[in-house]
Amino acid sequence: MNYDVVIIGASFSGLTLAHHLPPTLKILVVDSKKALDACVESTGLITQATFDLLSEFVDLKKFIPNQINSIGVIGTDFKRNFFSYTKTPWIYSTDTPQLIKHMSETLPANVTLRITTKYLSYNDTNADTYPLAINLKTTSDTETVNAKFLVGADGAKSSVAASNSKLSKNKKFLVGLEKAFYGDITFGPHPTQAVYHYWFGEFSLGYGGWLSPSIINGRNAFRLGIAKLSKNARDLTKVDAFIKKLQTKKMIKIAHDNEPILTFGSLIPLSGPLRKVFDKNTLLLGDAAGLCGAFAADGIKGAVVSGQVAAKLIPRYLAGDKQALKKYYPEIQKYNQLMTYYRKQVLYRFVWDLMKRDRTFDAMFDIIAKAKHEFLNQFCDSKDRHKSLIGIVLKVKNLPALAKYALLIFLDQFL
Ligand SMILES: Cc1cc2nc3c(=O)[nH]c(=O)nc-3n(C[C@H](O)[C@H](O)[C@H](O)COP(=O)(O)OP(=O)(O)OC[C@H]3O[C@@H](n4cnc5c(N)ncnc54)[C@H](O)[C@@H]3O)c2cc1C
Repeated sequence: MNYDVVIIGASFSGLTLAHHLPPTLKILVVDSKKALDACVESTGLITQATFDLLSEFVDLKKFIPNQINSIGVIGTDFKRNFFSYTKTPWIYSTDTPQLIKHMSETLPANVTLRITTKYLSYNDTNADTYPLAINLKTTSDTETVNAKFLVGADGAKSSVAASNSKLSKNKKFLVGLEKAFYGDITFGPHPTQAVYHYWFGEFSLGYGGWLSPSIINGRNAFRLGIAKLSKNARDLTKVDAFIKKLQTKKMIKIAHDNEPILTFGSLIPLSGPLRKVFDKNTLLLGDAAGLCGAFAADGIKGAVVSGQVAAKLIPRYLAGDKQALKKYYPEIQKYNQLMTYYRKQVLYRFVWDLMKRDRTFDAMFDIIAKAKHEFLNQFCDSKDRHKSLIGIVLKVKNLPALAKYALLIFLDQFL
């Protein structure tokens, strides 16, 4: 079969692209999953700007169980905590599996979607009209389809990137392990409107833990997990100790059966935006291109934006403008300086990875707790609103606490 564009990966980036490419193009989307709503490897929290972008082509409101207007930050002892609020929702939780399913079911007529189909490799045959021969594997067979253009929207460990030595690959990863349970969060003033960030310190170096409310199959539920640097992936078994701790501290109440509704683990790219994300007739999107916050681990906005930008550039490339893909990152930057946000995230990641002891995380907690009224306004949403956490922390009155924090980071390097 011949296609204009073949997209590998039917998640946020691949499906966004498929929704936006012109109807005149014949498009194939493939995904190795058996069912797109079976499991989506994401907590699925989106900020207002991502909400707005998705709403342009998806009936998003149906898939938003919770509007979040506060964050609870819990210290390393699981006792100290503070809450920070915004007037309007700061982020939204999504029913991610159903949202992805909906995105796949509403694809335009020019798009064919095939699941249970794994991308293997491609070669450039130099044929005139369809130069790419793309090798796929179904449950029973292997087959080759021909295309003019190949898109790798296949996540952090992209097989498309791996097929082409000229494309960059993500090299540093967090591994996130998440479980979802029916039940309730029983801690904090408004548990259905808050997300909780656990600053473990030594318990979960690399990221920490999270807890967020949700509604799954019409029942109250919550998602929780921890993420660690991939070199410490074995420690992810600590997620069960984390769950036990939250139960002991009466922060969650799991519904009677105690079994998770879903469990998944996946990689989060930490390298920041990759250098070489396109080559002849090929482009990487979303996580495959490293478009994910290296500190906050937020990649849905980058996936959606890269899908929308690619949908403008690929038709120009196919029409003969061979320089069109050079506009990829500059066009993404136009979405509220998203590229700058990702580069700043690499810096935050660098500092976070220097922190190794509870006492250092506690020192940081102390500084940020003092700024709790401004904290949420400046936090992750900076990719939407150009706010900066550094701005609220770097104040003369904080100098002694900052000096202590810097000293502890320094000492951590010798332990
Ligand atoms: C535990 C966890 C929690 C997260 N929480 C959040 C959050 O709350 N908010 C946020 O913004 N971001 C979050 N992220 C990050 C976010 O999920 C990703 O950045 C986003 O999903 C990237 O979208 P994508 O389309 O680029 O890739 P992915 O969502 O990774 O999708 C890639 C798709 O490609 C398919 N695929 C892979 N290889 C092949 C192959 N060889 N052949 C065929 N198909 C293939 C996969 O099956 C998959 O469907 C989280 C990530 C993790 C791991």
